[in-house]
Amino acid sequence: MMHKFDIIGSVFQKGLIITVCLLLCFLGLGNIPIHASQPDGLSIILSHNHLKQGKTLKITVESPKKITKSAFQMSKSRFRLFEHTDSPKNGVYRYATYIGISRTWQPQMLPIWMTFTFADGSKYRTRYKFWVEDAQFQEEHIKLTEQKQKLTRDKKVINEENRKMRRVLERYSAVRLFKNPFIKPVPEGYITSQFGKKRMYNGVPAWSHSGVDYGKGFGTPILAANDGIVVLTGEFTVHGNTIVLDHGWGVNTVYNHLESFTVSQNAVVRRGEQIGTMGATGVSTGPHLHWGMVIQNMRVNPLFWLDRKFLYD
Ligand SMILES: [Zn+2]
Repeated sequence: MMHKFDIIGSVFQKGLIITVCLLLCFLGLGNIPIHASQPDGLSIILSHNHLKQGKTLKITVESPKKITKSAFQMSKSRFRLFEHTDSPKNGVYRYATYIGISRTWQPQMLPIWMTFTFADGSKYRTRYKFWVEDAQFQEEHIKLTEQKQKLTRDKKVINEENRKMRRVLERYSAVRLFKNPFIKPVPEGYITSQFGKKRMYNGVPAWSHSGVDYGKGFGTPILAANDGIVVLTGEFTVHGNTIVLDHGWGVNTVYNHLESFTVSQNAVVRRGEQIGTMGATGVSTGPHLHWGMVIQNMRVNPLFWLDRKFLYD
């Protein structure tokens, strides 16, 4: 269901924002002009005004003027806007973006700041109200051998793996490569650990779970959750054999702990095509797939993407 929401604040508040901006400009601190009124014909639609941690928000923007630059900011995370391939339609430019609601953001009202630059050089900045809701993530106790636990605390190894992943995840196709809903990468698999669980390794708190774990036997085929491009096939000490798919518009899926790869880097894959087999490489207590979904570098719950039609319109 789509809702259209009011921009925060009255004309009076906007006047106040302009005054503050002018003051900041005067002080040399502000460099984004804030227009008091929304440009004619600009439409900004949020799929939701409240969501639980780990879910995904979609924002649709239509404008009679081409948008040449845009930035959306929530907390310290920034997201960009993407143009539809068939835009403009009937003289209207069509854009959309997905915003991942972090599993680490506290339940609260969190404004979404939006900045647009148009082809004629004009700019518009606004903010919308959004409420982050508590997903009530459960605790999970995991027993690891001493050697494996040591690896999960090895900052050098973890930082290096995270750096490599970030480099891969920061580059994505500006064209949306998927048209249909995502599918489970292990059709017969059963979930052994849900997204967001607060993990304790041998009683010691560790990071919360950034994806969903599917159990099944060694060698079970792992399928591409949607159409995309293989942007990484890599071997990692903690995360094991890993594949990353780029689905475009900042949407990536990640597959960890694989036994083997059945695709190579830069391959174009279709939804449901086999990309590897299930294993227990890296830090793992048994054969499983860790399936992750990343929206412009933000980890979200992939299960949310399985049956939400609005994400694919
Ligand atoms: Zn996992």
